[in-house]
Amino acid sequence: MIIFGHRSTHLKSAQLRNVKCPNCETQDQMTASVYGRHVHIFWIPIFPAGKTGVFECQHCHKGFKKKGLGEDGKLAYKNFKSTVKTPLWKYSGLAIIALLICWGFYASKQKDNRVAELVKQPAMFDKYTFKTETGYFSTFKVVEVFQDSMYINYNNYETDRRTGVDDIDLKKNYSDEIYVLTNKDILSMHNRGDIEDIERK
Ligand SMILES: [Zn+2]
Repeated sequence: MIIFGHRSTHLKSAQLRNVKCPNCETQDQMTASVYGRHVHIFWIPIFPAGKTGVFECQHCHKGFKKKGLGEDGKLAYKNFKSTVKTPLWKYSGLAIIALLICWGFYASKQKDNRVAELVKQPAMFDKYTFKTETGYFSTFKVVEVFQDSMYINYNNYETDRRTGVDDIDLKKNYSDEIYVLTNKDILSMHNRGDIEDIERK
């Protein structure tokens, strides 16, 4: 369950100048408090969602909403509100999301670099995750390495999800049949973007 909602926090208060109380008509006694609303998920603020003002006359202590003020009050509030900044912590969630995206790019770049290195020097017991011709995912294991080629065992199973590879990567799923892949085959697979990952123990 995702706990999602919004919350308001007090940002700033001030006395509004040249404003008359609509109730007792006292001048310069109206205070305005600005509250900033933000959307949160699991209590982590994600992004700000507007500001609202509440008002109180310090003379008669009557409270007002913005629509209860006169034109003088509305104008003074508008000017005051424009000076109230939204605190950065209200953007925490957006910052976290941006960091996760950057981290994702970085991790995937690192993996690409690693695969590009390993593909040039095949080693026994390397496990390749690759895209099949039909767009599924499967694996093969290197069982012997030669100067310009290698022997491999294919996995008999394939999966439609990249994340499903772990489920089919079982010892009993690998065929005993030996296939030969030349280094050229491997490189062209890599150049086509068909090698998803290489695991070396
Ligand atoms: Zn008043």
